[in-house]
Amino acid sequence: MKSYIKLTLWYMLIVMAISLFFSCVTYQIAFSELDRGFRQQPVVFRTTGPMAINFPTDDLIKARDDRIDEISHDLQLYLFYLNLIILILAGIASYFLAKRTLQPIEEMAELQSRFTADASHELRTPLTAIKTEIEVALRDKKLTLSEARELLGSNLEEIDKLKNLSDSLLRLARYQDKKSFAIKPDFYNLREIADLAVKNVKKAAKIREIMIENDVENKNIYGDENLLTELFTILLDNAIKYSGDGKNITVSSREHSLHIFEVLVADQGIGISPEDLTNIFNRFYRADLSRSSRNIAGHGLGLAIAKQIVEMHNATISATSEIGKGTTFCIRFKQAIKI
Ligand code: ADP
Repeated sequence: MKSYIKLTLWYMLIVMAISLFFSCVTYQIAFSELDRGFRQQPVVFRTTGPMAINFPTDDLIKARDDRIDEISHDLQLYLFYLNLIILILAGIASYFLAKRTLQPIEEMAELQSRFTADASHELRTPLTAIKTEIEVALRDKKLTLSEARELLGSNLEEIDKLKNLSDSLLRLARYQDKKSFAIKPDFYNLREIADLAVKNVKKAAKIREIMIENDVENKNIYGDENLLTELFTILLDNAIKYSGDGKNITVSSREHSLHIFEVLVADQGIGISPEDLTNIFNRFYRADLSRSSRNIAGHGLGLAIAKQIVEMHNATISATSEIGKGTTFCIRFKQAIKI
């Protein structure tokens, strides 16, 4: 049985138990009042003779009891219909309430199982590559030392990929766990944070002959220095990965309005299609273009981590892009950030 039907039945059971309990109490009170009211009243006064006698006649007693039965029957019927209406209304309300209660839980469970499937898939790919290479090498009786070295080098590359993946997964899980992970905010110079991030990707940029220009204002920002450096590093790392050799990157900042300012990371790389733009912040999402062109390494977790960091700073992140021309990521900070 579907879980929301089960929950509906439980809700209905509780409502009906309460309703029936109060109906019984109401009936008991009403009936005893009725009984007391009727029976304690003198039915007739026989006034013949000097002394008035206060005895009911049999016919009148019967008529009175019939009336009590009639009223009690009406009351039972009334309570029956009342409970029937409550049953119908409780059924409808319980169904919607159960759906509403279970919907976020079901969504979370689905997200969790999709996450597990995606993570397993990402883990399997390098593991399968390592296993196949080792199996082939073991079967090769004439394997030379240099071939064995080459194999170990290739295995090491795959192991590095696995390590990167597990690091990213751990960081994502840590940042999402709001109970045990708290950010340590203070005022930091934004330009200096951008400088730190540029330093982190310097080597990769040099290999690809890419220049990174830091045009960020000398401005204080209230946030976690390590997390903000990580955020800019992720964006710069992507900008390098998804750009052609010699294409420059700019990090800049600008006032958006009185209390809002933006940091922009702009590249002249392969760009992102409009369909992919809506998904790139989802865990494990990789645009087809990035998979096909140059076989760029990645697991689709960087932007999910970036988004998590941005949210921890009460900020927002968005991207604009044009295929073949480049992409600009924009982080919008509120100047008076309260965390
Ligand atoms: P990864 O880079 O490991 O694949 P990310 O979460 O960092 O994962 O990015 C998700 C996807 O967004 C990438 O696979 C790529 O398709 C796209 N993307 C991110 N940054 C850029 C960029 N600067 N230029 C083009 N595409 C990008």
